[in-house]
Amino acid sequence: MLNQMKDKMRAICTWCVVTLLLWPLHVFASERPAPECTNHVGETVVFATRDTVRASVAAGMANRAPDGTPMVFRMNYQSAPPAFQRFIDLHECAHHQTGDVDRPHPPRNSPAHLMNESIADCVAILRIRDESQDPEAVLAELIPALRSAMADVGFPEISTDSRVANLEHCYANYGSASDYIAGVLASRRTD
Ligand SMILES: [Zn+2]
Repeated sequence: MLNQMKDKMRAICTWCVVTLLLWPLHVFASERPAPECTNHVGETVVFATRDTVRASVAAGMANRAPDGTPMVFRMNYQSAPPAFQRFIDLHECAHHQTGDVDRPHPPRNSPAHLMNESIADCVAILRIRDESQDPEAVLAELIPALRSAMADVGFPEISTDSRVANLEHCYANYGSASDYIAGVLASRRTD
């Protein structure tokens, strides 16, 4: 059933956060407000909720609506802890900020795809670091949630370890998210 769920998510998500999460439904009753999000060409990204039948799975998706509006779809957030909701929002926003959404999608699990995911994770954690009242507390909630979610959907521990290591590296060593994004955009312009 888990595999069916993953296949379904892959089918409907162009840019999915790679974590799916199972949480008791009654624990977290509400969605956080959406974060500020402007894409690489200055358009405001619109956040919308799209709950699915499988109401215990929290995930996000970044794309453009048929009319061109840059969108992030938040799926089943009511079941996820606030730090994880925030992380998904910021990760999906990053795919708009870096222009991933407007570039050809690299093959799944190719180095280029994994690089895009690492960059989106890095942007998300820099924003959590710089925009949270108590970033250490957010991190303390986020990292274990991320670890258990990735384990739940069958990622090998080494994948989870490298993802967490990337987050910790960015958090400890990088400047602001906007500077980091500017660097990514500059390097892509010279590709
Ligand atoms: Zn992603």
